[in-house]
Amino acid sequence: MNVTVIGTGYVGLTTGVSLAFIGHSVTCVDIDERKIENLLAGVMPIHEHGLESLFEAVRPRLHFTVSYAEAVRNAEVVILAIGTPAREDGSPNLSYLHEAVDQVLGSLAGKLTPTLLVNKSTVPVGTGDRLAEKVAARGLSARVSVASNPEFLRQGRALSDTLYPERIVVGGKPEGWRTLRELYLPLLEQKFEEPFDLPRPRGLAPVKFITVTLRSAELGKYAANAYLAMKISFINEMANLCDRVGADVIDIAGIIGTDTRIGGAFLQAGIGYGGSCFPKDTRALHYIADANGYDFKLLSAVIEVNRSQKFTLIDKLRSELIDFRGRKIAVLGLTFKPGTDDLRETPSLPIVEALLAEGAVVAVHDPVALDKARSLLPASVQASSDLEETLQDAEAALLVTEWPIYLALDGHRLRELMKRPLFIDGRNALPPERRIHLDYRGIGTGAAE
Ligand code: NAD
Repeated sequence: MNVTVIGTGYVGLTTGVSLAFIGHSVTCVDIDERKIENLLAGVMPIHEHGLESLFEAVRPRLHFTVSYAEAVRNAEVVILAIGTPAREDGSPNLSYLHEAVDQVLGSLAGKLTPTLLVNKSTVPVGTGDRLAEKVAARGLSARVSVASNPEFLRQGRALSDTLYPERIVVGGKPEGWRTLRELYLPLLEQKFEEPFDLPRPRGLAPVKFITVTLRSAELGKYAANAYLAMKISFINEMANLCDRVGADVIDIAGIIGTDTRIGGAFLQAGIGYGGSCFPKDTRALHYIADANGYDFKLLSAVIEVNRSQKFTLIDKLRSELIDFRGRKIAVLGLTFKPGTDDLRETPSLPIVEALLAEGAVVAVHDPVALDKARSLLPASVQASSDLEETLQDAEAALLVTEWPIYLALDGHRLRELMKRPLFIDGRNALPPERRIHLDYRGIGTGAAE
């Protein structure tokens, strides 16, 4: 099929490359001219496993442009993958999405063949209906229909999640479901040759194709993220309790996670969730509930627990050092999780700010995001790509992102480098055998080890 993807961010580029991989001819559009120029030159705007090689492999079926008219002329399906960032009050900012839709509809005016306008961005319930009203207002309803196709990929595994999904959710009318079924058929049937660096995960269940209304698809996406966020906040509250009663949250997660009604995923205690989705989407769902006269109490608690959880690292540090003034603290990892260079809503930045506010000398390291981070970090922060330099003479190391490079750190070497080998593990991720020689503190792992 001829497909156009509007927006070439994490979702749009992953979608475009994956659709080209399963045989479609894909045109990607962005308003960011530099991004398009870079993509034309083969320069990736994001860090994602397997992206560059798959991009190269499908290059003949991938087109890039800043021109909507050129992009939608032959498109049977136009997919919107535009950012919907949170406003101050938590409501999602839909202005970029509406701007893009206006551009698309303006360019569709003279087109005689049918077009399915598919929204992949995470949006409040009713947005699809607003888009259909826009289509109608331009007299395009006979040829343009609207569908919702929420995205569930995880950054860091974006391509694998897209090629091997658990479910594909489509909202709208049966004609739209049919077109999207055809679009995704190779993924639904898993009929394609696996890319060598993106192997099929083991034990994959058949892909579920879930057809619902526009409104259920839109709300379902928020429900999925809010539920996962709830699991994280729940286990973090258990961790905080564990620290007070001398139990180990890893044992607790094992006990509850083996119950198939609960499931073991998302029960890793730590400093909470970050990134471009969970914080924004939980706040957006809360806003949607509020705007519809519903007090979503559980969600308020999930959000509040996560807001404060990152500072448990600082609390633990304070109980060891008492006073941070003039003391060097190494912060390991800046991105909100490993495998991505995304710094949106990462807990590392508030942690760095809190350390600086208490007079600490802060040194940071990250294997991929240092350059991106420089403009976000206060000038006094020592940012180095040399891990040993970051740890040299530090009185504590705070593990914020569980990048493999940190999990391979040798306790013996840390003892030599650091003034005090105090290692506070915000992700409970350092393997037990690497904790020897360190003053190791986890989150909810009971009494000091
Ligand atoms: P992003 O910020 O990485 O990318 C958005 C892209 O849209 C940018 O390249 C931007 O330049 C472009 N853009 C903005 N206005 C435009 C316009 N008028 N015309 C053309 N391009 C325009 O965002 P993202 O992370 O890919 O997220 C996109 C949507 O998908 C959001 O609603 C997000 O909540 C949702 N989502 C994201 C993820 C994720 O992991 N990132 C997962 C699931 C869902």
